[in-house]
Amino acid sequence: MEKDETLNKESKKSPVTKKKVVRKSSKARLALLNQYREHAIDNEIEIVQSNQCGCFFCRHVFDARDVQDWMDGEHGVTALCPECGMDAVIGDASGIEIDKPLMKEMNLAFYGETYMKDNPEAARTYCIRYIDGKIAHKAKSEALFLHYLSILEQEGDANASLALGEFYRLGGDFVGQDLNLALSHFEMPALSAHPHALCAAGAIRLEKMDDPSDTSLAFEYFAKASALGSMEASYYIADCYLHGYFVKSDPNIAVRILENAYDTLSRRFAIERNGWFEFPEVAYRLGLCYQKGLGVKQDEEWALRFFLHADLAMRIRQNFLGQDHESKMAEDLAKRITAIALSHNLSHNEIVYDADTFEDSVAEMGESLEERTIENVSFDPDGNELSFDMVCPSPCLITDIGNLSAAFITGPITWHLKDVASYKISSENKFTNISGDYDSGFKFFYTNDDGDDVTVFEIYFARDPSNVEVTDKK
Ligand SMILES: [Zn+2]
Repeated sequence: MEKDETLNKESKKSPVTKKKVVRKSSKARLALLNQYREHAIDNEIEIVQSNQCGCFFCRHVFDARDVQDWMDGEHGVTALCPECGMDAVIGDASGIEIDKPLMKEMNLAFYGETYMKDNPEAARTYCIRYIDGKIAHKAKSEALFLHYLSILEQEGDANASLALGEFYRLGGDFVGQDLNLALSHFEMPALSAHPHALCAAGAIRLEKMDDPSDTSLAFEYFAKASALGSMEASYYIADCYLHGYFVKSDPNIAVRILENAYDTLSRRFAIERNGWFEFPEVAYRLGLCYQKGLGVKQDEEWALRFFLHADLAMRIRQNFLGQDHESKMAEDLAKRITAIALSHNLSHNEIVYDADTFEDSVAEMGESLEERTIENVSFDPDGNELSFDMVCPSPCLITDIGNLSAAFITGPITWHLKDVASYKISSENKFTNISGDYDSGFKFFYTNDDGDDVTVFEIYFARDPSNVEVTDKK
């Protein structure tokens, strides 16, 4: 009945071809609805000329002036629904009379259960738009999101299982956390070789420690993820060795695993500004081992370095995962940094670009994919201070342990290195690598086309400032 009523309301000026009222067959009706639907795409002009609009996704009918968001389409601009954010808006300037029954009919035709099953792309589009925050998060839209993900999961869509697992692991805006449900999604066959899903399933099983069968599977999952090259698995396996979860407790093995992961991740983090998901976890655990002397000689300075890196990386991760995700680790990190700072009389200050900071930072800023230059080299015999600018196209990770600071620094960095015994600078000033330390001196170099390292700048320090010799080839 509804359908016929809708047809009766069609306006006479409609450019949409409409046969008089009578519903010939559902096929003809569907063809007409399909024509209506074309008015939802590239419809900027039509929407601007309309008084009333309707959304056949959420069935909302509203004033055309409420449309605020637009999306670039293939041939023009497409209106987004002010209520739900979907690109399913048609306006009455199209000649279609907009009302709730029509929206309902179109909704069932184009977003109904059968339609979604036959057109998984439409369900996927909705889910992606929901995750990207382009659809208002309301109880109804969240329920639809979960429903569509289930449809996709039934089709064997691994990403849908992963999204469902993540959703129930953290909880949504309206539906709460449910670790058992999360686990069932992470353990779907489609994800059996997905490193992150394996780690997530293992971590949930570890959390449910009271059942011993849960933990044995956890270790298996981590081992499999690690074999698949997962960095995330490395800190879970280290946890198992640290705490004796399903393996004999062995902190030495744990530290070895963490140090290997740290080497890879710190480079990835500093050079590619990537790896922010795993890096804080690895740096934090390594800091703990060095602070407590677990599996390694206790060393608070190294512990502090790892904690500062964990803290910086965690702040970057917060931008992606949100504040809540980090609260426990953030709190513990702050406590540990403060404790070490107190016992060594350190306080948080701006980074000072001196020889200590240079040495603290050389491991991360040492290697770059880009060409960098040294400029404005000058030497002041008072205090044998060598100053120069390091010009880097991308931000450099600089660590100043003494001032409890680690940060990515953009733009030229002006260094002031004291107690320099000698330095050599060649006619070239470009470099990609720095190696060395305070005791043996620093070398700036690049690798030429023949694969040879060409040193362009060398700096040597002396406790005895009378031992000064300067070579400047410029
Ligand atoms: Zn809508």
